[in-house]
Amino acid sequence: DLCEPDCDSFTMSYKALLALQSIKGNFSKKIAYYEKGMMQLEYERQELLKDVERALENDEFEVWFQPQVDCARKQLIGAEALVRWRHPGKGLLNPKAFIPLLECSDYIGAVDEYIIDKTCGFVRRWMDKEPGKSIIASVNLSRNDILKSGICDTMKSIVKRNGLPPRCIRVEVTESSYMENSERLISTIKEFKEAGFIIEMDDFGSGYSSLNTLKDIDIDVLKLDMRFLQFKEEERQKSANILESIVNMAGLLHLPIVVEGVENESQEKFVQKLGCRYIQGFYYYKPLP
Ligand code: C2E
Ligand code: CA
Ligand code: CA
Repeated sequence: DLCEPDCDSFTMSYKALLALQSIKGNFSKKIAYYEKGMMQLEYERQELLKDVERALENDEFEVWFQPQVDCARKQLIGAEALVRWRHPGKGLLNPKAFIPLLECSDYIGAVDEYIIDKTCGFVRRWMDKEPGKSIIASVNLSRNDILKSGICDTMKSIVKRNGLPPRCIRVEVTESSYMENSERLISTIKEFKEAGFIIEMDDFGSGYSSLNTLKDIDIDVLKLDMRFLQFKEEERQKSANILESIVNMAGLLHLPIVVEGVENESQEKFVQKLGCRYIQGFYYYKPLP
C-alpha cells in the first residue's frame, strides 16, 4: 500500500512510522500495516495542535460542569470541571478529540491551568451569590502536569488569585498517573495536601496500581471507574461482589467513594444497595455548560 503512484521514499518511511505508532504498546501485534487514512488523521492532529495557542488567546476552551450528588440526601456535593473546545471550524469538541493529543505535547499544562483558573472563577462567583454555602469543584490534572516541578505553587497561586481557599478544589489525579509510583508523584501529592487541596484518585480500578498506591499515597476520595457498572446480566453477582469488597475496603480506610457513570435507576439502586451514596452520572446530570 506504500507504493501509491506519487509516494516518494520520504512519504513511504513516514507512512511506515505511522503504522508503527498505531500498534505501539500493543504487545499482541508483531506486524503493523499502514492503512488508508492514517496520513490524513495525522495531518489533522498536527493542524489541531497548531490551533491551540489561538484557542487559548480567543477563549475557545470552555469549562462544563457535571454535578455530583449525594443520592441518600438528594443533595449536590460538588461538580467536576470538564473541558470542551468550541473550535471555530470543527464545532464543539469533546476532550477525547484533543486531550490525548495535548498530552503528547507541551500544551496540556497551559490548557489545564486555563481550565482550573476558569473553574476557580466560577466557584468564586457561586460563593459570592450564595454566601455561607461551601461549593467544591473537582479539576483534572494530567500526569504530565503532576510531574512538572512547581505545579503545587502554580495551583496555590491560581486559587489565591481567585480569592478561594484550596479546600474548595478537589484535584483529580487519574489512576494511570500513579503507575510508576514515582517519588516525585508522592511528594507532589503530599505538597498538595499540605497546601489544603483535596486529592481524588480518578478512575479507581481501571488499572493495576490502585491497591499499592492506596498504601503509599494519602488520598482523600476514590472515584470508582465507570466500567464497574458495565457488566453482562450473568456477571451481576460477580460484579456486585467485587464492588462490595471495594466499598468495604474504602470504609476501613475512611475513604469516601464517588461512583462515576451511573446512567439509570437500576444502576443507582445497585450501587446504593452496596453502600455508595455519592454519584456522578448521566442519571442525575450530564456535563452542563
Ligand atoms: P474523566 O475524568 O473520567 O471524566 C468523566 C467523564 O465521564 C466525562 O467525559 C463525563 O462526561 C463522562 N461521564 C460522566 N457520567 C457518565 C455516564 O453516566 N455515562 C457515560 N457514558 N459517561 C459519563 P468527558 O467530559 O468526555 O471527559 C473525558 C475525559 O477527558 C475525562 O475523563 C478526563 O480524563 C479528560 N478531561 C476532561 N476535562 C479535562 C481537563 O480539563 N484536563 C485534563 N487533563 N483532562 C480532562
Ligand atoms: Ca476526572
Ligand atoms: Ca473518571
